[in-house]
Amino acid sequence: HYILAIETSCDETAAAIIKNGTEIISNVVSSQIESHKRFGGVVPEIASRHHVEQMTIVLEEALKQAEMVPKELTAVAVTEGPGLVGALLIGINAAKAFAFVNGLPLIGTHHIAGHIYANNLVQPMEFPLLALVVSGGHTELVFMREHGSFEVIGETRDDAAGEAYDKVARVLNMPYPGGPHIDRLAHEATEAVKFPRVWLEEGSYDFSFSGLKSAVINYKHNMDQRGEAIIPEQVAKGFQDSVVEVLTAKTVRAAREFGVKQVIAAGGVSANKGLRSALETAFEQEGIPFFVPPLKLCTDNAAMIGAAAYQMYEAGVRGNLAMNGRPGMELTSWK
Ligand code: ATP
Ligand code: MG
Ligand code: FE
Repeated sequence: HYILAIETSCDETAAAIIKNGTEIISNVVSSQIESHKRFGGVVPEIASRHHVEQMTIVLEEALKQAEMVPKELTAVAVTEGPGLVGALLIGINAAKAFAFVNGLPLIGTHHIAGHIYANNLVQPMEFPLLALVVSGGHTELVFMREHGSFEVIGETRDDAAGEAYDKVARVLNMPYPGGPHIDRLAHEATEAVKFPRVWLEEGSYDFSFSGLKSAVINYKHNMDQRGEAIIPEQVAKGFQDSVVEVLTAKTVRAAREFGVKQVIAAGGVSANKGLRSALETAFEQEGIPFFVPPLKLCTDNAAMIGAAAYQMYEAGVRGNLAMNGRPGMELTSWK
């Protein structure tokens, strides 16, 4: 089965063709980062306009690179939510038109299910499984008993990890998106400024990053008032050490408690070198297989949507032409 997948939930216009949910035939991503940089974040209205411009070009490119014609496809998948509503609607409308014209089934996919299923493009997911989802808008631990079964056992109570990265980067005068810059700076430092670790109640799998973010802002503010210069590398390392330590410790504890066969990381922040190596080391010690997708499958793309949609297709899930964008869509099981 070949699934054509479309993703436009945020600032990447993407289309991909995926074979049997595991093999990338083509994977095209058009990023708008340059257009949003000068605003220090994604501007929804600008994002929608870019998607409208790029959607058809990206779609045609995905078919061209795959050397395929629409009648060879099995279904069309699209990110139904969560995301920016105006951005989602561009992809959804394109998917609807394509499905309608070519008489193909339409499947609406959850963006975070997509991030998780990026892993299935690299090695087979094995269950029970624990996924650490860390992205621009989400930070959660998801337990999966089987394909299509999602149980969110912990999530952030305030900022997402990526959001905290981007805000701290701003304080350090780094361009958007800040994650990769903080990551690089952190690796240039040997010493770190000490920032708090937020564990919440004993036994909780929830996260909180707004206190850490404030601690970094206050530190900068106090140093400024005293007329002292901060050392950005040491601030970046202090921040990253705190984020990585909490994420890793909670993921290890959950993996033990739920007795999982595999642990995976997903979402943009899983591109973080510090986090990847901390998780790798921790799970090597635990003796539990740990995987994280290659960088370009961590950030937004349509290949991951096709990978998730294939499992939905097999499970008989179908959308219809009345599909709407669902900006606040919850991650619910399709099984
Ligand atoms: P969501 O998936 O929750 O809807 P999103 O799609 O905007 O949000 P992603 O594209 O998955 O998020 O990830 C983008 C985030 O990842 C940004 O916050 C960015 O700073 C962060 N990021 C990317 N690379 C790194 C890195 N090396 N270290 C830390 N953060 C990173
Ligand atoms: Mg993005
Ligand atoms: Fe994302």
